[in-house]
Amino acid sequence: MNAASDTGKGPQAERADVVIVGGGPAGLSAARELRRLGAGTVIILERDREAGGIPRHCGHYPFGMREFKRVLRGPDYARRLVGAARKAGADIRTQSTVTAIGRQGRVEYTTPEGPMVLQARAVLLATGVRETSRASRLIGGEKPGGILPTGALQGIVYLNGERPFSRPVILGSELVAFSALMTCRHAGIRPVAMVEPGVRPSAFSLSRLLPLAMGVPYLSGTAVQAVLGRERVEEVVILHDGDTSSIVADGIIVSGGFRPEATVAVTSGLAVDPGSRGPQIDQFGRIEDSVCFATGNVLRGVETSGWCWSEGRRVAHAIVAAIRGQLPEDNGTTVQIGEGPITLAVPARLSNGSDAVPAHTHLQMRLDRPARGVVQLMQAGKVIASRSVNSLPDRRILLRLPGNMSPTNGAFELVFREA
Ligand SMILES: Cc1cc2nc3c(=O)[nH]c(=O)nc-3n(C[C@H](O)[C@H](O)[C@H](O)COP(=O)(O)OP(=O)(O)OC[C@H]3O[C@@H](n4cnc5c(N)ncnc54)[C@H](O)[C@@H]3O)c2cc1C
Repeated sequence: MNAASDTGKGPQAERADVVIVGGGPAGLSAARELRRLGAGTVIILERDREAGGIPRHCGHYPFGMREFKRVLRGPDYARRLVGAARKAGADIRTQSTVTAIGRQGRVEYTTPEGPMVLQARAVLLATGVRETSRASRLIGGEKPGGILPTGALQGIVYLNGERPFSRPVILGSELVAFSALMTCRHAGIRPVAMVEPGVRPSAFSLSRLLPLAMGVPYLSGTAVQAVLGRERVEEVVILHDGDTSSIVADGIIVSGGFRPEATVAVTSGLAVDPGSRGPQIDQFGRIEDSVCFATGNVLRGVETSGWCWSEGRRVAHAIVAAIRGQLPEDNGTTVQIGEGPITLAVPARLSNGSDAVPAHTHLQMRLDRPARGVVQLMQAGKVIASRSVNSLPDRRILLRLPGNMSPTNGAFELVFREA
């Protein structure tokens, strides 16, 4: 374990009220709101050369409708978020990679000038997601060049101004696969098909209209069996309704396989949830037994930037309440997930309710397969919240949390009763 010591030993720490780790939409919106609420000194530590997070690499529309009431390209959106945080008085430090976080707010980070230390009253983790190499794990056949995850494609297209292929197949149909589609359009790349193993798109159902509008065949219920090609992709073998056929293509964009970028939380010994693989928080965004909070995509993999921006804003209120001693006792207990299709719940820990407005008014859940039924949050054998569900895997499902919860009334369990 590499946790930052809270003993005060080591380099002299600079003081701050709130340190935010990660300058993407969630961290930037939290910073602006914290400053607006009078939280004091707010410092964002961002490992890249520029703050803005993933939208910096998404040179396509549409970003910013919820936040700025207009439709922006990703980089313009990122610049606006950075501008708003700076204007509010946040101190944004780039090329600053956080390496350890102590439970009592000691933050260690590296910069081109050397290692630095901050001592904060509260720390907010907003480190987003990372893409796992799904390409090497899922696809059989030869392993030619030209197979890229979306993030790498966006780096090549938007940052380097290059076109890695001209006729790729897009594999997957969640939110980020559509970002890949828009990236191709921007670069003049013409995908030859969008292939989804499920019957419906993983993103919202109407999203299938986008490939159709762009003249890209959308093949649902179709699996990629093999990729053929020596130096580069030449052919993609697909399986649909028991029939095998092949598509001539010169590349593959593999979407999905995202994980919370929770490395620093893990190495610092902060509580991590086995379901979401992100920091385990309560409804106020608090990580157990610490002055640390978490927000945005680090909580559970990919949501839209607008969603993460809004989460960042809401956790800012909880942080200010914590600094002012207005949050209820951190006595949360874990929400046990019963047998069935639910893979994760955020927040995965519930503390006493209070007058303080929670950062999360709902439990967010996801399933690992299509399922229909009723989801119930139980405590001591009683249903304290429930809703009917008819969902595909990986879609966001929300269950409103009751306001007057108390863990002392018994353990929480999440049950899925299939119809
Ligand atoms: C490839 C891809 C394409 C996407 N396309 C879209 C899209 O078109 N539209 C959409 O709405 N959403 C899209 N998303 C979802 C996207 O993640 C959200 O839009 C949004 O960026 C999430 O905000 P965030 O602040 O939680 O995380 P991020 O934007 O990921 O920001 C996290 C920041 O933390 C920094 N960081 C990480 N670790 C450290 C550390 N140890 N120290 C310091 N800094 C650190 C990172 O450098 C990064 O800047 C896409 C996601 C991916 C992966």
